[in-house]
Amino acid sequence: MDKTFDIVVVGAGIAGVSAACELARTGLRVAILEMEQQPGYHATGRSAAILAQSYGNSVIRRLTRASEHFFRTPPAGFADHPLLSPRPILHVARADQAERLRRLFDDSNDDGKLLEWLDAEELAQAAPHLREGYAVCGFRNKEASDIDVNALLHGYLRLFRQAGGELHTSSAVGGMTFNGGRWTVETAKGGFSCRTLVNAAGAWAAELGKLAGARDMPLTPLRRSAVVIDAPEGLAVSDLPMVIDADEEFYIKPEAGKLMASPGDETPSPPCDAAPEEIDIAICIDRIEKAFGLDVRRIDSKWAGLRSFLPDRTPVCGFDADAPSFFWLAGQGGYGVQTAPAMAWLTAAIVTRQPPPAALSDARIAAEALSPSRIF
Ligand SMILES: Cc1cc2nc3c(=O)[nH]c(=O)nc-3n(C[C@H](O)[C@H](O)[C@H](O)COP(=O)(O)OP(=O)(O)OC[C@H]3O[C@@H](n4cnc5c(N)ncnc54)[C@H](O)[C@@H]3O)c2cc1C
Repeated sequence: MDKTFDIVVVGAGIAGVSAACELARTGLRVAILEMEQQPGYHATGRSAAILAQSYGNSVIRRLTRASEHFFRTPPAGFADHPLLSPRPILHVARADQAERLRRLFDDSNDDGKLLEWLDAEELAQAAPHLREGYAVCGFRNKEASDIDVNALLHGYLRLFRQAGGELHTSSAVGGMTFNGGRWTVETAKGGFSCRTLVNAAGAWAAELGKLAGARDMPLTPLRRSAVVIDAPEGLAVSDLPMVIDADEEFYIKPEAGKLMASPGDETPSPPCDAAPEEIDIAICIDRIEKAFGLDVRRIDSKWAGLRSFLPDRTPVCGFDADAPSFFWLAGQGGYGVQTAPAMAWLTAAIVTRQPPPAALSDARIAAEALSPSRIF
């Protein structure tokens, strides 16, 4: 006998869990199906955990702004400590990158107040660990924050369960059919029946779309690698800013008394349990040694995750034109954590055919900008 729900959400990453929570809070009966043994195992559990209001294209920046209030004042009982802690970001440029950095500053300084331009001297004060003479200019986002991703994911799950939602792990969706106005979804743990299916399958979203007979979504998973290294002796790291190269050729930030760094790689990959390649780790170490004058002797840990992008680097949030009652929530790229609250509200508004909440309209987020119809 199939288990019966109003909505089945495929994927228990931050996208699926946050959307399922907002849907369940409207009174609908919602299940999440996750192929792994625990939620957040793929991209969500591997992020740099940053909220940067100046990161990404203008749609992403508006989604992030609309989400910020949720991060700062989540619903009562969501988490027992703040979800955000201040982590200023410094974008830095060598002489050959200075012009590009200036363009990035002009393009992403939306209200003219968020970002602050720094000359070489101001930069040296703000990032004392940069090698002397390495960077000629930079800019600072003082309002950026570290996100406690684990608390965010589990806060949403707690609210989801309180609203009657069910999370089914070890439940890979292997097939689905639409009949008589309902989807029947096959998993190793049995069948699920629902009126609406939400595809929040991360790097696997295009494959899931094919199973449903939906449009062929041009989604590309791109691998990004990261390492954790010991902090140089004598350097108090916890209050250091995150430092990002002008061309995102590296970034580095404090991580529990150590330093987390990435070479900013974007290597196309099939959907998989991503692992870092030695070459990307070597490039990462080389770049941060040059920028910070470090001598990295030991790598504490390393990992990789898939950031999945559509060609315009904007996520897709809306019903498919071919497959009935099949909803796309995919392509969050490198911004899926910081935009999750706004994406979840938009999903719930479209699925329940309600007007979007004020946070979205105030941020001038139009559903059309995220609709699958913009792609085909
Ligand atoms: C190194 C790195 C750094 C990043 N840094 C940041 C950052 O600082 N800030 C930020 O906002 N974002 C960041 N991101 C991006 C962010 O992690 C992603 O955008 C976000 O996690 C995507 O969430 P998701 O739920 O769509 O995907 P996922 O977390 O991958 O979840 C998808 C889930 O679907 C499940 N699934 C797939 N197919 C099936 C199936 N057939 N049946 C059942 N389950 C299925 C998978 O097992 C998975 O759990 C970073 C990513 C990486 C890799």
